[in-house]
Amino acid sequence: MEVRKPEFVTNLRCLVCGRIVAYGNVFTCPDCGVEGILDVQYDYDSIPNLQAVIPNRQFNHWRYRELLPVSPDISLPNLHVGWTPVYDVPRLAQTIGISKLFLKDDGRNPTNSFKDRASSIGVMKAQEFGFNIIACASTGNAASSLAGMSAAVGLRSFIFVPQRAPEPKVTQLLIFGATVIRVQGTYEQAFDLCREACEMFGWYNRNSGTNPFLVEGKKTAGLEIGEQFGSAIPDWVVVSVGDGCTISGIGKGLQEMKRLGFINRVPRLLGVQAEGSKPLMNAFFSGKDLVPSQPDTIADSIAVGTPRNWRRAIKQITKSNGTMIAVSDEEILEAMRLTSRLGGVFGEPAGVAGVAGLKKAITKGIVKPDESAVAVITGNGLKDIASAKKAVGQTIDIEPKLSTLEQNLKNISLI
Ligand SMILES: *Cc1c(COP(=O)(O)O)cnc(C)c1O
Repeated sequence: MEVRKPEFVTNLRCLVCGRIVAYGNVFTCPDCGVEGILDVQYDYDSIPNLQAVIPNRQFNHWRYRELLPVSPDISLPNLHVGWTPVYDVPRLAQTIGISKLFLKDDGRNPTNSFKDRASSIGVMKAQEFGFNIIACASTGNAASSLAGMSAAVGLRSFIFVPQRAPEPKVTQLLIFGATVIRVQGTYEQAFDLCREACEMFGWYNRNSGTNPFLVEGKKTAGLEIGEQFGSAIPDWVVVSVGDGCTISGIGKGLQEMKRLGFINRVPRLLGVQAEGSKPLMNAFFSGKDLVPSQPDTIADSIAVGTPRNWRRAIKQITKSNGTMIAVSDEEILEAMRLTSRLGGVFGEPAGVAGVAGLKKAITKGIVKPDESAVAVITGNGLKDIASAKKAVGQTIDIEPKLSTLEQNLKNISLI
């Protein structure tokens, strides 16, 4: 059966050399050969007035289907992806010194991270292009998300993980039925092996650093922020950055919402990296090509030594008149406590790195106290208990006797 192409996608455009590439299963610009820079183009003028039709649609990210590269002939995954809640958190705002702060909790997605936005597109593209097997290399959220989305639509998934992949995340893969290949080596080696395997065995490659369609899924968080805030759009959108795909997608989504009239200005993007893994930030400030580094941070989801979407990320941050900042592991652990205790949202280290970066940016005068911001919490805290434990104190372990309890309570303040 002939599968129709996405209705409003015209073609792909290389962000480096400007070459227009015909729509199809392509990853690399045929002219300059650079990975991770093909950008999906739409015929915006033919898209119906979304402000009129969207309000009647279901509250998930498929409400923006005209702005997504999905074929009308492929059924949508049944899981609820996107339209994650936005919370007003005045106590957290006051503590970090900003007049208005919101958290957008993307840990509420089906496999508990932002990555579901991309994987839900990935499994549809695999089906559209006629694949039965989809693969990716990842230590964490991209992998669990792909495993979950594949289970939802009935695709087989092959996941390549490096040797040091944490056991809880590997278990999440196995329970969704993924075939997990543990590579005796680093993440970079797992990534390369996955790519070679996709070419050799004819599997679809979900790696979001190189696959041009996945960033479109990440775009939906930007579309949602535009619709959820409308004319009350905050001054800043704060996002943690590893590969750079997430912030690129959010930036593109916000630009589209301005173009379509949902918002009248694009907020400034604040990209936050970890001190121990900031090659993208270095490239942003130096204006030079990215220099790979050896990542060292507890925020494993943004521990990316060789980001593949750095050009796209820098373009979007610059276009929004935004900037970047880096935070230490201690600042991330503090943000984990603050975000949970004053905002009620428990994020993993990379999930709260944005809040840590915002706090620092306020201290440095980059973000002004009278401004407003929304921080995207990109992953749920239960994904990485070992790190969360580093951020917290101990339990009070006692025998079941009231007198012992009373004894112990003398040591802590009850008011
Ligand atoms: C992947 C991820 C990020 C960063 O996204 P990039 O596209 O790699 O920049 C941030 N937080 C969490 C929880 C993630 O899983």
